[in-house]
Amino acid sequence: MMRVRFAPSPTGFLHIGGARTALFNWMYAKANGGQFILRIEDTDQVRSKEEYVDEILNSMKWLGLAWDELYRQSERFAIYREYADKLLKEDKAYKDGEAVILKIVPQKIKIYDLIRDEIEFDSSEIKDQVLMKSDGSPTYSFACVVDDALMEISCVIRGEDHISNTPKQLLIYQALGFKPPKFAHLPLIMGMDRARLSKRTGATAVSDYQKEGFLSEGVVNYLMLLGWSPGNNQEVVKLDAAIKSFSIKKINKAAAIFDMDKLKWINTQHIKQKSVQELTGLLVPFLQEKGYLGQNYNGKNLENIVDLYKGRISTLLDFLDWTDFLFVQEFAVSPELKNEYKIANLTKEFRLLQQRLQGVEDFNHTNVETVFRAAVEELGLKAADLVHPIRVALTGKTVGPGLFETMALLGKEKTIQRLADAVKHQ
Ligand code: GLU
Repeated sequence: MMRVRFAPSPTGFLHIGGARTALFNWMYAKANGGQFILRIEDTDQVRSKEEYVDEILNSMKWLGLAWDELYRQSERFAIYREYADKLLKEDKAYKDGEAVILKIVPQKIKIYDLIRDEIEFDSSEIKDQVLMKSDGSPTYSFACVVDDALMEISCVIRGEDHISNTPKQLLIYQALGFKPPKFAHLPLIMGMDRARLSKRTGATAVSDYQKEGFLSEGVVNYLMLLGWSPGNNQEVVKLDAAIKSFSIKKINKAAAIFDMDKLKWINTQHIKQKSVQELTGLLVPFLQEKGYLGQNYNGKNLENIVDLYKGRISTLLDFLDWTDFLFVQEFAVSPELKNEYKIANLTKEFRLLQQRLQGVEDFNHTNVETVFRAAVEELGLKAADLVHPIRVALTGKTVGPGLFETMALLGKEKTIQRLADAVKHQ
């Protein structure tokens, strides 16, 4: 049975890099009918925090990366102690105070990496290794090796930053008499500035992307492109399709560049692929959080709004920026915009339109358009002369989807009210 693991330390939130490691492990397991183990490496009792454990588990669930088994290293201290004692008894380790230290036997160490092929190390550089610290807790490498062996991990897939730990860990496998797993070290993720990924260049928590209104499908899709490609120039892929073509050997050695615009573009594509109903369901919590929707709302009306804006948004939060004018109680157009669109000079035109719209019974976009065109003709104007100022007066924005659809969504009362307000104090 092929078994892989993702082993985050809960000393911080799950970031993009960790999520990519989790995803590649998960995809590798699914592509090979194997199992995916989640192991919380919480041996550092000072820096590990329960809120980080919760956040890691929630982010994993949100990304859709279900695990087959879950372990916490803090519950396994007796096991590490047992193996440390064994090494002491066999004289492969010695004590320094309360600490247990592995004797290093100088030798050449070779690791076979599925992505990088053979890597050779000279152990003369490696000093004797602490296995158990004097406070009774295991070191990262010792707990990692004991667990990877006992959990029967067949391939360790992790970030390139762990390559330097691998020879030390191989020596621990050797001392314990365990067969080492295969290794695959994933390329670094760098920012657009070609430096280490930072907060500014995208190294934020997965939960931040969730709060910003990215879809989990979009994030997962973008993460899988960081070092791997589904082939055939394909970029927008669903997870189940990607699994079918996933191969660890096809992962690049070269660093991957995190491109926020690309992530947004991928997310936009996944938003377009959603049905209006599903997208509406995802938007409701964002609208409620912002105070735009209460517990009870008109679902059909909301779906109509979503339908009109679906093609324009790249995140769920974008939707709120586009449609705020439909939900806010206090609506006002900035004086700058009013000036720019010379709304003060349109009092007569706006008043006529108000009167005509008052007569529309069924305030749908076709009826609104008919009335609007008749009014424009009566005024001896062109439609374009009024469309833009009216859009500004009704939405506070200079761009948007069709004006008549927008008016229909806003409704008769608010449309007429806003046209009146726009020219009131002039
Ligand atoms: N807890 C380690 C980390 O978060 C795991 C490294 C490994 O996968 O071996 O980096």
